[in-house]
Parts: sequence; C-alpha cells; structure tokens
Amino acid sequence: MNPSSEGHNDRMIRRWLFADQLGPHFLDAPRQPVLLIESKSVFRRRAFHRQKAHLVLSALRHRAAELGDQAIFLRTDTYGEALRKVSGEPLDVCHPTSRRAREFVRGHDGVTVLPPRGFTTSPGDFVAWADGRHGRLRMEDFYRDARRRLDVLMDGDAPAGGTWNLDAENRQPPPSSGMPVPAPPMPVEDEIDEGVRADLDRWESEGIEFVGRDGPRLFPATRREALARLRHFVEHRLPAFGPYEDAMLAGDPWMAHSLLSAPLNLGLIDPLDAVHRAEAAYRSGAAPLSSVEGFVRQLIGWRDYIWHLYWYFGADYGAADGLRATRPVPSWFRALDADAVEARCLSDVLAGVRDRGWVHHIPRLMVLGNYALQRGWRPADLVDWFHRSFVDGYEWVMTANVVGMSQYADLGAMTTKPYAAGGAYINRMSDYCRGCRYDPRSRLGLNACPYTAGYWAFLDRNRGRLRGNARLGQAMRQLDRIDDLPAVRAQERDRGDEAP
Ligand SMILES: Cc1cc2nc3c(=O)[nH]c(=O)nc-3n(C[C@H](O)[C@H](O)[C@H](O)COP(=O)(O)OP(=O)(O)OC[C@H]3O[C@@H](n4cnc5c(N)ncnc54)[C@H](O)[C@@H]3O)c2cc1C
Ligand code: SF4
Repeated sequence: MNPSSEGHNDRMIRRWLFADQLGPHFLDAPRQPVLLIESKSVFRRRAFHRQKAHLVLSALRHRAAELGDQAIFLRTDTYGEALRKVSGEPLDVCHPTSRRAREFVRGHDGVTVLPPRGFTTSPGDFVAWADGRHGRLRMEDFYRDARRRLDVLMDGDAPAGGTWNLDAENRQPPPSSGMPVPAPPMPVEDEIDEGVRADLDRWESEGIEFVGRDGPRLFPATRREALARLRHFVEHRLPAFGPYEDAMLAGDPWMAHSLLSAPLNLGLIDPLDAVHRAEAAYRSGAAPLSSVEGFVRQLIGWRDYIWHLYWYFGADYGAADGLRATRPVPSWFRALDADAVEARCLSDVLAGVRDRGWVHHIPRLMVLGNYALQRGWRPADLVDWFHRSFVDGYEWVMTANVVGMSQYADLGAMTTKPYAAGGAYINRMSDYCRGCRYDPRSRLGLNACPYTAGYWAFLDRNRGRLRGNARLGQAMRQLDRIDDLPAVRAQERDRGDEAP
C-alpha cells in the first residue's frame, strides 16, 4: 500500500496489470486507475492448451468487467499497439513474470517498473540467502529461512510441533477405498466465458492453433471463485492433503490437492493469505500439522524457490543440458495423444493433460517428467511443452521445475538427485499397474514395464555423469549386478521414442 496516494484516485498513476496480476494486491488502492491489455499475438506465437487460453482470457475479461470505468481495457494485436493508444499518460507496472515482458516494459518510456508482488520472499531476501550458500542451494534450507522470516508455523524460535519437516508422514499410498474428501467446487461459466469460447472458435478457424480439448472451465477466473476454492480446500480437503500428497488414483485426478496453482499464478490470491488460513486451521485443531506443514512448504517453500531461481540462475539456465539429452519430444507426446499409449499410467496422465490441462505434482514429475528423463528428451523442448500444455504454466514456473527438478539438466544445482524411478515406485504410489498390460517387476520381455526397463537404461546411459552422486550409490551398485543389462539396453533402444 502506498499511504501517500491511498484514496486519491486523481493523483495516482495508472497501473498496467498483466494478465497474471489480477488480484487486489496488485493495486495500491481500491480505486487506482488501471490499464488491461488483451494481446492476440501471444496466441499466434505458440500453440497453447485450449483451456489455458480460455482461462487467461476469461480471467482478464472478468477483471475488466469488475473494474468497469476504473480500467481502460484494450483488445489489440500486440502490447505495443495498445500502449500507443494510451501514450502521453504515465504508467506503472509491477515487475512482470518473464524476461521477455521485463525487457519490454523496461524499454518503454513513461512506464515505471515496481518490485514484484504475488510471492512471499522479496528478491533482496532471496539473493542474500542464496549468495550466502556458496553454490549449495537446497529448498529445505530456503524453506526454513522463510518460515523464520515470515513467522509461519513457528512457536517462538522453534518450528511448530518441534520439527521442520513432516515429509516422512506424507508419503502414503492411496487409500483403497478412495479419497476421504469432497470434490472441489467447480466454477459456473457465464456470458463472459461464452464470449471467450466464441472468440477462440473464431481464432481457430482463422488458423490459430491450440492443443488439448475444450471443456467446461475448471479453474477460477475471478477472485470470488478463487476464494471459494481456497475456503473449501482449507475446510474440507486440507486435512487429507499431507498424507496422500504423493499418491495417484486413476479415477481421481484431484485427490486432496488444492487446485490453486492456476488462480495463484493469475495473481487472484495472495499466497501468504492462503498460508495464514492454513496455519489458522492447524492452530484451531481443524487440520493436522502434517497436512498444514506440507501445504505451507509448497507455497512459501517450493513456489517461491522456483520463482526466485528463474531470475537467480539467469537466462542461460533454460538451455542447460548436463545429461546431454538431445532427442526431440515425439509427436504423440506433443499432441497429447493418450490413445496411442498402452502404458496405463502414462496414458491416463496424458489424457488428463489433454482433457483438463492439469494433473497434480506427482504425475507431472514421476510419470511425464520421469519418462522424458529416461528417454533423453530435450529439456528445452519439455519446458516449452509444459508451458503450453498446462493451465497453470508460465515461463518462470516451468524453467526450474522442468530443467532442474524434473530433468536434472543442471546436474544438481537445485536438487540432490534426479527424479528417476522404475515401475515399483508407480506401483506403490498408485492403482495404475493393476490394470496395465505391462508388469512393473519386469524389465525384460514382452511385458517389461517401460519405466522399470527405462530406469536401468537411463542409469546405464548416464553412468559417467551420475557416478559421483552419493544418493545414487546403491542404485549404481545394483546396476553393476544386473546380468541381463545388455538385453535391457537393446530392448529399450528398440522401444525408442515410440508410444509405450
Ligand atoms: C515438471 C513439472 C512441471 C510443473 N509445472 C507447473 C506449472 O506450470 N505451474 C505451476 O504452478 N506449478 C507447476 N509445477 C508444480 C506443481 O506440480 C503444481 O504447482 C501443482 O501440481 C499444482 O496443483 P495444486 O494447485 O493442486 O497444488 P498443491 O499440491 O495443492 O500445492 C499447493 C501449491 O503449492 C505451489 N507449488 C507446489 N509445488 C510447486 C512447485 N514445484 N513449483 C511451483 N509451485 C509449487 C503451487 O502454487 C500449488 O498450487 C510443476 C512441477 C513439475 C514437476
Ligand atoms: S506397469 Fe509400468 S507402465 Fe504399467 S502402469 Fe505400472 S508403471 Fe506404468
């Protein structure tokens, strides 16, 4: 809040809000004048998921409708064209979330760039923390620092409950009777959504391409919808979030996840507000510490860590390729062709991306990312694929999640080991393998699980690069004892990048 200008609409600079800066915390006062721009050329540059395009346009147009005559809302081909229409009036803008957008706003006379909002740690605090680590950046250390600094889940100087990390309690396989939580509330579409759908149909007929299937809007486009989802999550779903955080069920894409990444990344909710509500649930006894700590860790830990690493690691990080993964992402994967895939886990997860533009963290990391890592697909292509295919995908959140966490292309700059695993992991954490034509225990032969065989082939291919990793010591020793390794190697070479 800027106290000197609060409430004095006529003296306030007009705030240009990007389409991921839509909540009230991106304004200094409720009546601050606003500029909103809908640029069509963004959709010409790359083929986004149809439901992602819908969500972003719907959120922008809903915000414009809410603000009424407080906002100038311009629908143009490019940002530059829109800015020319308001030239002469000074603007300010909160730090945008991509390098390209930052360069653009910095290069415009009359536009003042303010510090970023919508995250919990400031750039200064992050850089001070990271510079003090002498090259050893670990999320757990950052998270503990953030807990203290933000005074979240702290009892004085000590972590609430006496421990920082309850991950060990939070790795349970899925319950056989299904998740003990009500389904999340879904938004109800209105005439703005109708208009968006008609425009997207028209754009498609003009040649603009999308991926995935259209469907009812599943993610909040307004602050009201976002708060309804947050309140419902904290009250009904948060208690089960922790224990089943890593589990997957074929018939339940949502599990007890919050489904808040899209509204958070649109800027509709302040992450610290979500954290405070979750902490209040713990303090009142409504949710166990394991779940609340797990959720808080995602928000002030992982989300901010990933955001700051995007800037801290610099522009070249996105092209990192420490494992020399050079194979192009195959067409069936790019086109979200789930029907071409027989491996039940991968087919179901790819269908989830095709039909909803969203799957939760473990399918992203251990089904999609794991498969790409094992096969040696190009990390930069995957960054682009994830960015385009997910409703919550933005460049800042893709880069470290895909290049670092999922593909280990930075050779451990942000994680301690690659997230590679065989079918045994997927079998333990899901109900997929029971109905699959492959056998998770088998690495050779017609029913050899592509993940199990792919895991050994991956370690074998990267022996030299991964040899020094202490956390892979046991797996490497096991690899050395596999007598049919040459046959597994040949089998996986033959399987190649065909849909498994
Ligand atoms: C390969 C890969 C790609 C990913 N792509 C995206 C993406 O495009 N957009 C995105 O927001 N998240 C991404 N994530 C992180 C995470 O998977 C999603 O934030 C989460 O699955 C969204 O579902 P949810 O809101 O129900 O999350 P929950 O499980 O309920 O978690 C709560 C919140 O924590 C935050 N969060 C948790 N982990 C991360 C993380 N690693 N990075 C950033 N935020 C995190 C999200 O805001 C999320 O809403 C990716 C992870 C991987 C491994
Ligand atoms: S057997 Fe392998 S391919 Fe089939 S569902 Fe299990 S992990 Fe996936």
